[in-house]
Amino acid sequence: MVRTLEDLRALTRSWRRCGEVIGVVPTMGALHEGHLSLARAARAECDRVIVTIFVNPRQFNSPEDLANYPRTELEDARKLAPIGVDAIYVPDGAQIYPEGFASTVSVTGLTDVLCGAHRPGHFDGVATVVAKLFTQTSAERAYFGRKDWQQLQVVRRMARDLDLDVDVIGCPTVREDNGLALSSRNQLLSEAGHETAPLLGQVMRDMAQALREGGTMAEIAPQARQRLLDGGFKEIEYLDLREASSLEAREQARGDTRLFAAAWLDGVRLIDNLAVSGEGAPV
Ligand code: AMP
Repeated sequence: MVRTLEDLRALTRSWRRCGEVIGVVPTMGALHEGHLSLARAARAECDRVIVTIFVNPRQFNSPEDLANYPRTELEDARKLAPIGVDAIYVPDGAQIYPEGFASTVSVTGLTDVLCGAHRPGHFDGVATVVAKLFTQTSAERAYFGRKDWQQLQVVRRMARDLDLDVDVIGCPTVREDNGLALSSRNQLLSEAGHETAPLLGQVMRDMAQALREGGTMAEIAPQARQRLLDGGFKEIEYLDLREASSLEAREQARGDTRLFAAAWLDGVRLIDNLAVSGEGAPV
């Protein structure tokens, strides 16, 4: 467990001097199999692996959400132990945003839609903290989940635009057997919410099938929304078909397309996405 930038740098300098490749897995903790799959991918491909745990205040939209976000540091360390990561970097706020911190990394365009449209400032918070974690860890490879597809695209664009010498690697979404995408926020669902939550994935898979058979969003989306509302979801923020890398809206499954959803259940905001069409489209 490394808590300060100074201690982290002491480690990474010695690793780099030996020519070792450092991989980073940025997380906000409350680790589950999704996070662990990223740590395992990094372990398999890098000489040194750093998992970072930082609940980044700048990417939250409400103080309640930030306060309620699960924090399970000891449990997280226990889960990482069998994977054998080299460091768990757990900075406090001052290591990331020291007194007088005045810089923001902002990626335009990609952040105008989906979660960006519903969570003002969220992706500025993400891009800023990820840029810092890349430079603080001096990683050459960084592992992100496709569960947060828009975030993955934003981080890739940021790394490319700022010439950060980091390979951004997207890893498959890990799901429960019932299809529910794992998320730290799932812990905040009630028992009834847990039973309802997999409906989101089911509805999205059915939509994907209908789109592959030639259906249009105008035909398919209204019924899908209604199914979610009837099933107990409270509000559907978006249920969109988009081109996979530009995130431009699409009406039909042509080229690389993905379905994206965000919906509220039990006061918890759930998001998911899946590939609809495209050559070798990642799941
Ligand atoms: P978070 O702690 O939610 O900020 O997530 C940290 C990283 O884990 C991000 O790259 C997420 O995309 C990834 N992640 C979260 N849930 C999953 C999942 N179910 N499958 C794969 N990766 C995930």
